[in-house]
This record gives sequence, structure tokens and C-alpha cells, in this order.
Amino acid sequence: MKTIFSKLSNKFLHAFYPSCPYCPSCGKILLDDTHVICVKCAKIIFTQQKYTCKICGRSIKGGEVCNICYENKYSYDRGISLFVYDRHTAPIIYSIKYSNNIELAQRLGSLLYYDICRKSDILSYCDIILPVPLHKERLETRGYNQAEIIASALSEESGIRINSNVLIKTKATADQIGLKKSQREQNLKESFDITDYSVVRNKNIMLTDDVLTTGATINACSEALKKHGANMVFFAVLASKTY
Ligand SMILES: [Zn+2]
Ligand SMILES: [Zn+2]
Repeated sequence: MKTIFSKLSNKFLHAFYPSCPYCPSCGKILLDDTHVICVKCAKIIFTQQKYTCKICGRSIKGGEVCNICYENKYSYDRGISLFVYDRHTAPIIYSIKYSNNIELAQRLGSLLYYDICRKSDILSYCDIILPVPLHKERLETRGYNQAEIIASALSEESGIRINSNVLIKTKATADQIGLKKSQREQNLKESFDITDYSVVRNKNIMLTDDVLTTGATINACSEALKKHGANMVFFAVLASKTY
């Protein structure tokens, strides 16, 4: 009797106090606790992108590739992005990154799996999923790596194993936000390393991260992986900036 009562009261409490009761995009109260983003914002955020870069997957106005991929020979092979990084989605990324909204990262990570399957068959030949790492000092301050939560959700949905220790960040670099493209690249130069080459050698790798801006971070990871024998390097992100 007590169990039923406590179950009911938990359910009751949960209905009124879901883990995050506000839509991270517009800030309105979520009346339905099965949602992590309100229906109105979800409709805007998940609008199908008309044109996407065939290399990095970001939304473009037209043509085949984005300006970043056109101007650079980046070492990653292909990327997929769940939505565009804009004024509607920037607060979602902020909520995942700085406000401990783990549930939101998990749910969007699961959704990312279905989005990748809808857009390509790259998961069918991926051997391992690696999150873009944080430097250990930043991990200690933040308490979690949002890219790892996304990677775990993707691993759970796809059945592809995850390894969170093999790709590491060796240099504590300054925050990329506010830096120019060339400064970002300089900032990241040789800042990633591999702890066990045998884990990545001849493997097709899927990197995960929350957001793709210029691609400098993913490229630096990809360079480190390929330097140590990785075969193909793909990536999947929640949001990507349009260039
Ligand atoms: Zn909303
Ligand atoms: Zn591109």
C-alpha cells in the first residue's frame, strides 16, 4: 500500500516538477513533462533544412558545400547536424553546456541517431564512437562532458561501442568563442592526443559534440586520429552554425 502511495505521489510530484520544467528555447513552462522542448519551439527547430553541405552537414543557402569546406581541406570525411545553431537553439546548447540539463542532452542524442539514419548510412560502417574531449581541468569545473552524454545516447541507440578515454585533450586552450578562425586553429594546434593507438588504428570513427562552429575542433581531433592510423572520421553534432 505504501509503495503504491509513494509511486503515486512521485508521479504526482514529477508531473509538476519535471527535471527541467522550462522550455530551454523560449523559457515557457512545459505543461507536458514528456517534452524537453515545447511543441512550438520544436516545430521551428526541427524544420527540415533545404540545403546542407555534403561534407560537414551544416545548413547552406544553396550549392553543394559550405564556405568553410570550400576554403579548407579539413581532415574529417563527413558530418551530420541535427539542427541549425541560431537564436532559437543557442539557449538549448547553453542549457546542455552550462546548466546541467543532462536529460535534454540524452534526449537530443537519441534523436540525433534517428537523424543520422535518415540522412546517411555512415553508422553502418562506424566501429567506435568517441566524444570530443574536454581538458581535465574543464571537466572538473563543469562536472560532465556534454559530448560524452550525446555519445552515450548515440551508442545506446546504435549498438556501436563508445570509448571516452582514448581521445584526450592535452592542452587547456582558451574558450573558442569570440576567436577568429585562424586564432581558433592556432589555439587548438596539437591539443588532442590518443592514449592507445590500437583502439583507433584502421577504424572508422564517429565523433560527437554539441555544436559545430568553424569545424576547427572536430578537425583537430580528426587530424590526431588520422595521424595515428584511423581510417575514416565522421562526426555528429546537435547544432551547426551557418556560414
Ligand atoms: Zn519553447
Ligand atoms: Zn561544410
